[in-house]
Amino acid sequence: MSAYLKSHPTHDGFFGPYGGAMLPPPLEPHFAAIREAYGRISKSADFIAELRYIRKHFQGRPTPVSHLKNLSALCGGAQIYAKREDLNHTGAHKLNHCMAEGLLARFMGKTKLMAETGAGQHGVALATAAAYFGMECEIHMGEIDIAKEAPNVTRMKLLGATVVPVGFGGRSLKEAVDSCFQSYLAQADTALFAIGSVVGPHPFPMMVRDFQHVVGVEAREQFLEMTGELPDMVAACVGGGSNAMGIFSGFLDDEVALYGIEPCGTSSKLGDHAATIAYGEDGDIHGFRTMVLKDAEGNPAPVHTVASGLDYPGVGPEHAFLHRSGRVTYTGADDREALAAFFALSRHEGIIPALESAHAVAFAMREAKAHPGKSILVNLSGRGDKDIDYVTQTFGFGETA
Ligand SMILES: *Cc1c(COP(=O)(O)O)cnc(C)c1O
Repeated sequence: MSAYLKSHPTHDGFFGPYGGAMLPPPLEPHFAAIREAYGRISKSADFIAELRYIRKHFQGRPTPVSHLKNLSALCGGAQIYAKREDLNHTGAHKLNHCMAEGLLARFMGKTKLMAETGAGQHGVALATAAAYFGMECEIHMGEIDIAKEAPNVTRMKLLGATVVPVGFGGRSLKEAVDSCFQSYLAQADTALFAIGSVVGPHPFPMMVRDFQHVVGVEAREQFLEMTGELPDMVAACVGGGSNAMGIFSGFLDDEVALYGIEPCGTSSKLGDHAATIAYGEDGDIHGFRTMVLKDAEGNPAPVHTVASGLDYPGVGPEHAFLHRSGRVTYTGADDREALAAFFALSRHEGIIPALESAHAVAFAMREAKAHPGKSILVNLSGRGDKDIDYVTQTFGFGETA
């Protein structure tokens, strides 16, 4: 493991000033048990062997790296490549941590997995893990997201999960997390709250990063094998930040420029975007310290982006830290750029990307021109099947995009 990964976070879960665990007292022993169990299984040969087996024979890993030749020619300048996390079973990188969280839950003797979900991708991935391990599953989801992502709600139900609609506040991801924490308090003896990104109290930001590390390890090896070099730039969209930490963690010790792409929505006005690092400030959310988008009262602000999976007014503490240290550059793409990238990748490469991933593709398309002779590796975090009805009903087929 790399020098950076070994020393971050600290024993208490801090990345510089960010991270930690601010828990209601009844949850403290449960998180202590999760930390202890993770510490043991992460060194267990049996756990590692079973996770490898699952990844190969159930999930479809390794996922390939594709050279996007047509898109590169179209943009001119840099060569663009994609790490194909869209080819994971269930269509996104989320199964990387959900299957591992399922294994952890089984090791701890839990009988239920529970979580929040935004676009429904984490809910589907966790319901899949629960079905695989023969566990119950409870998913909390905002009513707005339920209406927007109906096929994922159907999938979760088919997989045997109970979907709890969340009808207060902004009725989206932030409220789904609040609702799930509430429900977890009453059943933490028998359930594991399998947080869906590199967010939440310690050890989740570290643990989910470690489970996603496989993306960066594979991508580095595959890119080297394909081109004989490392990529010049690596880009990933950042909601909570798990797919980005997955791919970044493979390159942190290399001379590779890393870019986190936040969703700039429709404008820079508070409420019109979810670009936490660009417009936020230090603060606390959901039991950890990080950067937060705050309203006038100092509470987490309403957010907007065309990609439900990026709709969160906070960000993983490690991203706040990597921003502060300068190791990763955080920039953005707005709804319009993401849609243009969605249509371009579909039409010119035969890959329909998730709207979330399209933000990272948009960055590559924008930067390619300025970097002739260089290479840009994009983490294609998921496929866009879930988005096609919403996109075509709202924006047509891209003629004017
Ligand atoms: C959930 C999701 C994201 C956002 O989550 P991160 O933790 O920021 O990676 C990005 N892309 C896809 C396809 C997703 O499903």
